[in-house]
Amino acid sequence: MAVDPTPVYWNRILDELRSRLPTEQSFETWFQPVRARRVSDHSLELEVPSLFFAEWIQQHYLELLGEACYAVLASSPALQFIVEPELELVASPVSSVSVPAVSGAAAGGGATASTSPANGLAPRFASAIEAGSQDSGLNSRYTFGAFVVGESNRMCHAAALAVGEKPGVLYNPLVIYGGVGLGKTHLMLAIGHRIREDRPDAVIFYMSAEKFMNQMIASIQAGSTLAFREKYRKADLLLIDDVQFLATKDATQEEFFHTFNALYEEQKQIVLTSDKPPREIAGLEERLVSRFNQGLVTDVKPPELETRVAILQKRAAADRFYLPGEIALLIASHVKGNVRELEGCLLRLIAYTSIAGRSVPTMEMAQEILREYLVAQDLSIDPDSIANLVAQHYGITREQLRGKRRTNSVALPRQIAMYLMRRQTTLSLSEIGRFFDRDHTTVIHACDKIERLRGSDRPMRDTVEQLAERVQDGR
Ligand code: ADP
Ligand code: MG
Repeated sequence: MAVDPTPVYWNRILDELRSRLPTEQSFETWFQPVRARRVSDHSLELEVPSLFFAEWIQQHYLELLGEACYAVLASSPALQFIVEPELELVASPVSSVSVPAVSGAAAGGGATASTSPANGLAPRFASAIEAGSQDSGLNSRYTFGAFVVGESNRMCHAAALAVGEKPGVLYNPLVIYGGVGLGKTHLMLAIGHRIREDRPDAVIFYMSAEKFMNQMIASIQAGSTLAFREKYRKADLLLIDDVQFLATKDATQEEFFHTFNALYEEQKQIVLTSDKPPREIAGLEERLVSRFNQGLVTDVKPPELETRVAILQKRAAADRFYLPGEIALLIASHVKGNVRELEGCLLRLIAYTSIAGRSVPTMEMAQEILREYLVAQDLSIDPDSIANLVAQHYGITREQLRGKRRTNSVALPRQIAMYLMRRQTTLSLSEIGRFFDRDHTTVIHACDKIERLRGSDRPMRDTVEQLAERVQDGR
């Protein structure tokens, strides 16, 4: 698609930033004057009024910007600033703040300062939230209400809800582990929101383990370790995200151990997330592992198809976007392992729909987006493998499947194959038709028929779903 989605993406990134920044003032000061020259999966080119601006954003808002990008694009583009001095400067920065020296080469109009994804825009979420005014760090999207429960996360959700309702009593610590983008941070923050509802004055800290470490190191350098300790030991709820990061960081583990004990003894709730069960985190000290295992260790698994569809529908509804069922199913059938990517595809679809000046997306738009996604993931499913699988399942040959005979024993498998191609590949109706040497109306008819049968005939539905799973897994 030849349209440039930059304005749509940038507006969404700005929305995400606004919800994450501590004050509206900081948003207006630092982001309203910024213009996006280009936003794509790989690069984010921002025009800023001065080099000072670029540096300020890099120093203070890089992580937030990274999160906002990730929330919208499901990727971590490389950031590049372009200084455009004529851009209006909405507000001048506070003069007492010291800014590091400008490196010679980068100064002047049109200068650029680059940040690679590795050293800045990684999908890290690291804002601390404390009682009172800084609460906006608790992204309001991440509540229990916005979380879709399915088989894959039922246990974990129940445990998180219980902790949110009775902090410090039932499961302490609560450790949520699982793969990337499966809702660990979401559940953790939902606990924060839930506790905040009951106790508006609760002292809640949320941060990544990495940020915990960085703050600890900064406090050592500043000679303020005591204050650091005091601060975290005042928490009613401590949320530390991605604790696997602490592996092999001995001094940080030591400090964390003491913070943990201090809170634990006072029955203050601790919630941790990690990418593996604590015992499998190589380089995590045994005493921490055993502390973590004293509580409840629970995992989130990749959501099954129904849950993925429900997540898409819920997100679409929250965005007041009408998502036709067949499109939700198409996206959910392709994007399997990671909810963040699922959301990324949806956002892209919303962007394309709005650029195309429409209110409802078409199947073709969804296929276009999926095609890009699948190429990037190298996960595309080819029609041959579907034909082979279906033919094999029904004990007929590939040639019969693609042939002209219309007896039910071959026509039904053929229609199922067409349906699966429609649902699980990014081929257009005509392309599927061509595969069978038929025209696209035959494919439409086949898809309608199978969809109807899926609704009325349970064994049929099971067969189709089993085949779909096998296609997806390449079996
Ligand atoms: P993780 O911390 O496990 O990497 P996140 O909590 O950041 O994953 O989740 C990634 C995205 O997917 C977030 O936008 C989150 O809201 C969404 N998400 C994940 N699981 C669910 C779910 N079950 N229901 C609704 N949204 C979900
Ligand atoms: Mg996370």
